[in-house]
This record gives sequence, structure tokens and C-alpha cells, in this order.
Amino acid sequence: MDLASPSDNNPTFSSPIITANNTTTNNTTPPRSTNTSISSPSSTPSRYENQKRRDWNTFCQYLRNHRPPLTLPMCSGAHVLEFLRYLDQFGKTKVHNQTCPFFGLPNPPAPCPCPLRQAWGSLDALIGRLRAAYEEHGGRPEGNPFGARAVRIYLREVRDFQAKARGVSYEKKRKRPKPKGTAPTPASLSTPASDLSGSGQ
Ligand SMILES: [Zn+2]
Repeated sequence: MDLASPSDNNPTFSSPIITANNTTTNNTTPPRSTNTSISSPSSTPSRYENQKRRDWNTFCQYLRNHRPPLTLPMCSGAHVLEFLRYLDQFGKTKVHNQTCPFFGLPNPPAPCPCPLRQAWGSLDALIGRLRAAYEEHGGRPEGNPFGARAVRIYLREVRDFQAKARGVSYEKKRKRPKPKGTAPTPASLSTPASDLSGSGQ
């Protein structure tokens, strides 16, 4: 995985955030779900399921490495936000500071020292997967930290800022002006926050 690849004009869900095992400080322990024999295509889980499992493993590893240590039941939306900010160091998306002359330019003419971050679309899809995984692992929906209000607000802020900083629009105004109900976003199957763009502003 070339984490520094600049070919990231596309903030969609095609680029998995957490594919490399070295995304955490402890890369000596591979995920225990690593298959040694992937020979039978009939029993291969979908790409979404694979990604969801990798994301979940990464999050659990993050909890284990956390100081002070965290367990899943202790996890709140604030910890999820910490996790998302932690992931930013592995991001590939240039997000210009407001002071950068290229702020708002989709195709800057020159390099600049602004940081690389996780693209909003990647974070949004990631949260959707982790939210589903949390409940699949026995978590109660009403206590799901990935569905916390603070997380929704954070994602909305990231989306708005990245849209401005990168000069792109994340609004879904291709056909329907008002995305009500479930948006047809394939990679965020269980994202219930599809009405984020339509509320509160
Ligand atoms: Zn910049």
C-alpha cells in the first residue's frame, strides 16, 4: 500500500482505509483471521464483509494499544472520534489549510505542505461498517458508539470542511435534489445518517 500515493482525487469508497497491517504501532501481531488457504472461491465473503472484518480488527487492536487500555463496552463516541483522528496520519487526501493559497482549488498547480487526511467518504463508509460490526459482535444498538451523535456531527464537519478545502462538492444533487431516506451508496450499506445533508443547516 503506498500510503503516499497522490492519485486520490476520488473520495469514494474504492480505497480501503485499513488494508495494511502496519496501520498501528504494533505490527508484529497479524489479525488472527488471516486465512492461510484462500482457495475456494465459493466460500469467499464479499468485499464489503472482508473490509468490515479488517476494519473491526483494526479498531479492536487500536483499543488494545490504547493508553489507558480500553475495552469495547467502555467505548464511547469520543473514543471513536479519537480513532478517526488517529487514522488521519495514514490518509492520502490533501486537505488544504485555510491559509494555503490553494485552499478551495480542486487541482492545485504546485505542491504545498498541507496535511494528508482520510477522505470524508472513506471515514463515512468506515463508520458504517464498524457500526454494523459492533452490533454483529453483540453490541447493543442503543449503545453503539459508532452511531453516537458526536460522530455524526464530526463526520458532517469533516465533509463540509473537505468540500471547501478541496473545492469539491459532496452533495448528492445528480438527480434527486432532496436525498430522503436511504441513499443508494453501495459502500455504506448500513449508514443511517443519509439525511445528514438535508438537516440542520
Ligand atoms: Zn495546501
